[in-house]
Amino acid sequence: MTMLMQSLSISGILTIDMHSLNNEGAEGNQLQTRMVHIVDENGEPTVVNAISGDMLKHIQAEHLHGLALEKELPLCAGCTKFNSNRINADAEFFKSLGDKNAIGDTLKKVLQHCAVDDLEGVLITQGGRSTPRKSTVEFGWLVGVPEKTRTESYFHVKFDNNRGQGSGDESGANLGQNIFYRPASSGEYALVMNAELSRVGFNDVEREYQITDEDRKKRTRALLESILLTFIRPLGAHRNTQFPHIVNFQGIVTTSTAAIPAPTVSPLNGSYLDEVQKIQENLNRLFSDAITTYKFESQSEFTKIMADLIEQVR
Ligand SMILES: [Zn+2]
Repeated sequence: MTMLMQSLSISGILTIDMHSLNNEGAEGNQLQTRMVHIVDENGEPTVVNAISGDMLKHIQAEHLHGLALEKELPLCAGCTKFNSNRINADAEFFKSLGDKNAIGDTLKKVLQHCAVDDLEGVLITQGGRSTPRKSTVEFGWLVGVPEKTRTESYFHVKFDNNRGQGSGDESGANLGQNIFYRPASSGEYALVMNAELSRVGFNDVEREYQITDEDRKKRTRALLESILLTFIRPLGAHRNTQFPHIVNFQGIVTTSTAAIPAPTVSPLNGSYLDEVQKIQENLNRLFSDAITTYKFESQSEFTKIMADLIEQVR
C-alpha cells in the first residue's frame, strides 16, 4: 500500500464573524450563546465564547455523508438517511449478527457494512451488546482567543401585517407577531483536531484491517475531503440568516508516517507554530523524519495543502 500517512493533525486559528453556531439553549425568547471557562497561556482563568467539538464533528460528518453518497461508499440504513443513531437504526444489519459476546466479529461486520460508522464511530448496545467503534477523527472545542472574541445579542421580529390582537398566539402555535433575541459572535477561535488514518477500516479488537486496501484509500480520501470541507463551508445552526463569515484560517497541518501521532499544540498558546516545529525536529531525531509540517496563512493555502495530501492517497 502506497498510502504513507498514518495520522494528520491541524492546529490553527479560525476567524469567524457574525455566526451563531454555538448556542446552548433558550430562556424565553432569548437564545443563549455558549461561554466556557479556560486558562489562558499565562495561567489565568478566563471566560470565552466557544463552539463545541460536537458541532465541528457534526459539520464534518454531514460533509462525509454527502461525499459517501456521491462516491457510493457502503452505508448502513441509518447513515443513508443521516440518522444520528447510525447503524443502530439498521434493523436488517442486526439480524446478520451472531453471538452478542463476539465483539471482534460484530466490529468486523460494522466496518464492512458502513463507511460512516467506521470513520465517525458508534456505540452498539442493542440485544445486550456492548460494542464500541472509536471515531477515527477527533475535534477539540473551537475556543475563543481571550480578548479576540465578542458576542452581542440582536433583536429580531417576525412581523405580522394583520397584528390586530397584540402579539403572539395563546395556543403556542407559531402564529402572530413574535419578537426574539439571537446572539451573534465574532472573533478568533483556536482549533485542534486529529485524524487517525491508520485506523480506517481497522478492527481494534482483532487487530487487522477488515476492508481491502482499495476501499481503505477511498474512505481515507473521503475522510480527508470532509475535514477540508469543514473549514471551507461550515454547516450547522442558524445558517439561514447567520451564515458564518469565515474571514481567515491560519495554522499548521502536521502528518506522521509512523505510529507516533502527528503533533498538535493549542493556538491559545501564542507560540504554537514554533512549538509544533520544534516538536517536529525533536521527534524526527528519534523516528527517522516521520513528522512533516505545513504552515498556512489563509483558507486557500490550507486548501492547497489538503488537496496535495489527498492526492497522495493512492
Ligand atoms: Zn452507518
